[in-house]
Amino acid sequence: MATASHSTLTTSGILEPAATQPPTDYKPRYIDIGINLADPIFRGRYHGKSRHPDDLKGVVQRAQEVGCTKLVVTGSSFKSSRDALKIAGEFPGTVYTTAGIHPCSSSIFSKSHHRHHDESQSEGEEGGEAAAEEHTPACGPDPTKPILDGEGVDHARTETIISDLKTLIEEARTGSSPPSLVAFGEFGLDYDRLHYCSKEVQLHSFSAQLALAASLQPQLPLFLHSRAAHADFVRLLQEAFGPRLERLEKGGVVHSFTGTASEMHALMDLGLFIGINGCSFKTAENCEVVKEIELPRLMLETDGPWCEVRPSHEGWKYLIETPKPPPVSTSTLEPAPQPNGEGGGGEAAPLTKRQQGKKNQKKEPEVPERFKVVKKEKWEEGAMVKGRNEPCTIERIAKIVAGIKGISVDEVCEAAWTNTVKVFGVVEPQ
Ligand SMILES: [Zn+2]
Repeated sequence: MATASHSTLTTSGILEPAATQPPTDYKPRYIDIGINLADPIFRGRYHGKSRHPDDLKGVVQRAQEVGCTKLVVTGSSFKSSRDALKIAGEFPGTVYTTAGIHPCSSSIFSKSHHRHHDESQSEGEEGGEAAAEEHTPACGPDPTKPILDGEGVDHARTETIISDLKTLIEEARTGSSPPSLVAFGEFGLDYDRLHYCSKEVQLHSFSAQLALAASLQPQLPLFLHSRAAHADFVRLLQEAFGPRLERLEKGGVVHSFTGTASEMHALMDLGLFIGINGCSFKTAENCEVVKEIELPRLMLETDGPWCEVRPSHEGWKYLIETPKPPPVSTSTLEPAPQPNGEGGGGEAAPLTKRQQGKKNQKKEPEVPERFKVVKKEKWEEGAMVKGRNEPCTIERIAKIVAGIKGISVDEVCEAAWTNTVKVFGVVEPQ
């Protein structure tokens, strides 16, 4: 693991970029603060059906290969929080967890919810609505689903849910040493996805969990979600922790940030950190917001299996590497050497159709793939699955942030690493 640090913490805890350039042997190091490894998709299960072998180990290994040596697995329901803790047990020192109820999983607080809030999916159960619910909610709205309304809050049930969540957290804190549970969450508000849970129930779920978070001794850092709900989000945080969040002991991060610049500044002013993933680079406006995030407030995440950076995203252009032009040939009769080593010197063999295709592609600027990517139907050991985002892509997030800000990837990495270690304490004291 790289030990070089290019930012320094002053005695007042303020992060200052170092004046010197990083040495050339610097290897980036990452902590993915938001990765849904408890999603069955990382076990090869898609919508309740097994499509390929469990490749969670491969996912963790690819992350480690790019320098992403710490993963904070998101708990977004009772089941995923418990599953995340089990995964942490499989990868001690690498996988850490959070525990909480995501706004999209908050209908357990409503009168219309009929299953038990802590109901686990039985192993091997395939197909059907229930199995599909195992997946973590995708990061975008689903316009095909109707918006829920008039669900009504179930107060008696709330007491049981909060008490069970408290027990889960307290057991997790004492279950391993050092504890793998590093944050309270994911919780918050998501008004883009009211089809999973109504606004009334989301507000109730958030404030009930905030009260629990404030009562914990000691408190845990918060892993927060806020989408299209800024005013209510800040108001409830202030009600729980004071107008300046002065009673928030361990700080918190607002992950998967896609809000406006003024919302982002308001959150930074409250001392909160901002988590950035592929969804944060969708539009030119999104990228302008990223540009304004202060490095001492930045954290990086992938939010896999969701939120990958796509070619349609504004931020994609920062990943494109223009190939170097081939060296000028001394003789017009000799073909110039190709970047892949083919056709260098001598008589060039005629190109096959496939090679021709490759040659044409090479002329276009492109985004290099670090690992092979295959469709899930053609799964193979060591390859990534198309459309399933995973933590090794965190280097793309750092590269885009660096590109937007016009600074080095190393500076971005080191700032995010330092901030994350400071808040979540994921690196054991030496
Ligand atoms: Zn989220």
